[in-house]
Amino acid sequence: MSRFLSNRFSALSPYTPGEQPTDMKYIKLNTNESPFEPSPRVIEAVNSSEVKKLNLYPDPSCVALIKKLAETYGVGEENVFVSNGSDDILNFSFMAFCDKDKGVCFPEISYGFYEVYAELYGLDYKKVPLNDDLSISPSDYYSAGNTIVIANPNAPTGIALSVDEIEGILKANPNDVVVIDEAYVDFGAESCLPLTKKYDNLIVVMTYSKSRSLAGGRLGFAIANEGLIRDLNTIKYSTNPYNINRLTLLAGIASLEDGEYYKNCNLDTARVREYTKSELKKRGFTLTDSLANFIFASSDKIGGEEYYLSLKSKGILVRHFGNEKINNFVRITVGTKEQMDALLTATDEILKEF
Ligand SMILES: *Cc1c(COP(=O)(O)O)cnc(C)c1O
Repeated sequence: MSRFLSNRFSALSPYTPGEQPTDMKYIKLNTNESPFEPSPRVIEAVNSSEVKKLNLYPDPSCVALIKKLAETYGVGEENVFVSNGSDDILNFSFMAFCDKDKGVCFPEISYGFYEVYAELYGLDYKKVPLNDDLSISPSDYYSAGNTIVIANPNAPTGIALSVDEIEGILKANPNDVVVIDEAYVDFGAESCLPLTKKYDNLIVVMTYSKSRSLAGGRLGFAIANEGLIRDLNTIKYSTNPYNINRLTLLAGIASLEDGEYYKNCNLDTARVREYTKSELKKRGFTLTDSLANFIFASSDKIGGEEYYLSLKSKGILVRHFGNEKINNFVRITVGTKEQMDALLTATDEILKEF
């Protein structure tokens, strides 16, 4: 910290992204990226003649992309917001809908960024404990009296709430914004997006980073009542109006024109997830019922950190979290079948050596 940093940030501990090491080539199963390339249509759309136009600003209103998203999801254009990754939208939501007198609550074990944003804005925040099986109890969020943020499926457990359970939370909190972060919804959970037509306090946040093979493009979107979308735009136009670059806008549109490609990729991921789960179970692992593109696994034969380090020494990267309630677990991104077979082989070797 320099002596110039504002006091209000002096205690801030920033989010730690998953490691992106360059010392050797790893099988990367640590940041929930898709193992599949973007659709061929995306690669065609982001071509050299488009690169030549990078001297020009992108369209700040993102009209073409928003139109396509509205069509795809059966909502009005006034119900769609897009930004530079869904982290950006979560950030804007904390900025827009939380305050000194309007705190925020989120699950105690969830996406680490929620707490960082709450700290960044100096909010009162409450971390709501999970059940012993690491699931979320919807009634813990009834009449919360503050903004609610829930990842569904939750991270890093992959456990999902049903749409009815989300609706229960919405009904019990008509005067507070409920942000449902559906970063992983396309791998088998049910989206609560249709509820945005019925509840003016619901924001559904989605990303291209996981199920649309575009983590490097940085694109996220939100769907909500027109009023909430207007508020998010107020924040956007007060910070960075050109928040999505020209190439990413094109990639985002082209992705939506090839929904079939991503549907097949995501089905494949769900299949490989179930295969890997059952193989790890055979090896004595305990697993959550993950509906995401990752597996959350622990073993009583080897500690989470040791398993993570042993895999790393064999060239396979997974994610281990320090939080003591989950420090016996590792989170393993679902890659290709070949990658998961390599993980299983490495696991067998590690358990034998142990
Ligand atoms: C990956 C992830 C995000 C961030 O996605 P970007 O669109 O890449 O910023 C948001 N929420 C959760 C729960 C995630 O896992």
